[in-house]
Amino acid sequence: MRWLSQEDKSFVVDGMLGRLARWLRLLGYDTLYLREEDEEVLKIALKEKRVLLTRDQGLYRKAVASGAEAAYLVSENGADQLAQLAKSVGIRLEVDISRSRCPSCNSPIESADPSDLRGIVPATVLSRYSEFWRCTGCGKVYWRGSHWRKIGETLTKAKSLLSR
Ligand SMILES: [Zn+2]
Repeated sequence: MRWLSQEDKSFVVDGMLGRLARWLRLLGYDTLYLREEDEEVLKIALKEKRVLLTRDQGLYRKAVASGAEAAYLVSENGADQLAQLAKSVGIRLEVDISRSRCPSCNSPIESADPSDLRGIVPATVLSRYSEFWRCTGCGKVYWRGSHWRKIGETLTKAKSLLSR
């Protein structure tokens, strides 16, 4: 469907790119993380029209030859990888939590009422933060904790790499 924007891209990443999968989900992209044989990963990429991401040149070549959209990730570094994908595939380097998916399981997350989280989230966390999200799949609860600053730093770094 041509009218779909780049924002609607979805991905499948191979077993070496678990961290990148978490990033893409956080950025709102439907991303499968498969620790399967190359053929299986490629089959799903083609069937579900997902962009295949890999650090395996052999798999990358096979994917391109089969007509899949694919990217070979040059670096192991998170910021480098995000910059590369922003450049080549056009992913956005901003987190909009309303679109984020669960980094653990790829399900959509939804905003959660703190009063529903008593007993699930430590009381100290509940008193410190006002906004929470819960995964509609695995039930994991998220808030903008101490790791949030690191997320921002990595995205800023990726953007600076992009503007070079
Ligand atoms: Zn989840």
